[in-house]
Amino acid sequence: MAKETGLAHVASGDIFREAAASGSELGLLAKSYMDRGELVPDDVTIRMVLERISRPDCAKGVILDGFPRTVEQAVALDAALAEMGKAIGKVLYIKVSTEELLRRLSGRWICRQCQTPYHMVSAPPQVVGKCDRCGGELYQRADDTIETARNRLGVYFRQTAPLIGYYERAGKLLEVNGEQDVEVVGREMLATLVRS
Ligand SMILES: [Zn+2]
Repeated sequence: MAKETGLAHVASGDIFREAAASGSELGLLAKSYMDRGELVPDDVTIRMVLERISRPDCAKGVILDGFPRTVEQAVALDAALAEMGKAIGKVLYIKVSTEELLRRLSGRWICRQCQTPYHMVSAPPQVVGKCDRCGGELYQRADDTIETARNRLGVYFRQTAPLIGYYERAGKLLEVNGEQDVEVVGREMLATLVRS
């Protein structure tokens, strides 16, 4: 989407990694939290995002990816952007039902011998429980079990899902049906964004 629209792709994960590696004052501050396994505070994260989007490659605009994740972050981001005379333009909501999310999140299996990944829905092995490549046994990582998926979704519904209403009330929400093939979803995201 960034390539098609000419906007810069600004992903929160990349910002954290780059900031930590850069050795800047802000980066070291963020790293000190990450090294302790703590969440980086919102004000530190927002300062890093603002620094990133003030660079020349962001002059035409940016696609924010992975941020904001809470209404508190969104409110703080809106305030900080307003001070720069900027604002969030549109927000893409890729809508997928809870059942489908659980199926996708918990369907991953990996070969114990050659590490080839499979997915019970989108890329199943020819024989259940066996690797197509080497015949090895398939297993699920603790990260990919249904319990972990439920926990992760619980955090999402408590902390992140309220953003849907927040941006809807602001008249910025664009909805795309995420329960289609990945190529179709990608095309519709782009078309919806360009049309808006
Ligand atoms: Zn294998």
